[in-house]
Amino acid sequence: MELWFSEVQTKNLSMSVRVKETLYMGKSDFQDIAVVDTYEFGRMLVLDGVFQTSIFDEYIYHEMIAHVPLFTHPDPKKVLVIGGGDGGSIREVVKHSGIKSVEMVEIDGLVVEVSKKFLPEISAALLENNPKVDLKIGDGIGHMTKAENTYDVIIVDCSDPIGPGEGLFTYGFYKDIYKALKPDGLFVQQTESPFYHQPLLQRLNKDIKSLFPITRTYLANIPLYPGGAHSFTIGSKKYDPLEVDLGGAPDLNTRYYNKDLHKSCFYLPNFIKELLK
Ligand code: SAM
Repeated sequence: MELWFSEVQTKNLSMSVRVKETLYMGKSDFQDIAVVDTYEFGRMLVLDGVFQTSIFDEYIYHEMIAHVPLFTHPDPKKVLVIGGGDGGSIREVVKHSGIKSVEMVEIDGLVVEVSKKFLPEISAALLENNPKVDLKIGDGIGHMTKAENTYDVIIVDCSDPIGPGEGLFTYGFYKDIYKALKPDGLFVQQTESPFYHQPLLQRLNKDIKSLFPITRTYLANIPLYPGGAHSFTIGSKKYDPLEVDLGGAPDLNTRYYNKDLHKSCFYLPNFIKELLK
């Protein structure tokens, strides 16, 4: 018998994958957690029925959420990742040898444990106990209210704006991020699909623009996510990703990100430009 797993992406659209094997099914204090091995995407992490990451295409999301902001800042030393329990963003962050420390604040310890066990390629930097990495299990929203003038770069690697992630998509949270960044700091957040989350993308853009002098949205092609195109938004106090000189930047071991893409990913189609006006 064929087994299929479906993610309801909008109330009128779902994506189904054929499952080879269910590797884990559990429930934490925050969400339902599953890892399934699929024919098309390999092993996948699913939270509350929403596809989070897959072995097939995880490198695209994790490289783009980490390297675009980290190469925009000329000398990032202190980095914070909020969410990112699978460890993929941290794996990319530690490729930047100049970084002295990276804190990760993930609300759900079980996501970290399950990812380490079933997705070790993604969790590599957590499994290696890299001394630069400081993993804290806690709420990213509460963490941000306490921090001030601390970080060069903040990466908000969050799940969808439902459940524990809802407050990570609010004006109050962005105000705290602004406060937590150093005077030349910048942050990035995954901001969902430009096809299926247009009101959200519009609202976030307006909120971030009202706080940060430089606000830029960029895209990456991620087959696992609705519509394939996925958006990320940067709020920056000083550095503009479109103006950085990447001439001297080292070539990291990446499969998607490169220096050409660093700028070209910000060139948006007209319907998105119109949306963000
Ligand atoms: N790549 C993924 C995507 O866009 O679908 C996101 C990856 S990562 C698994 C998202 C993580 O954010 C989850 O592990 C979730 O537990 C965590 N998270 C959600 N709300 C949070 C909060 N308030 N504080 C810290 N982490 C949170």
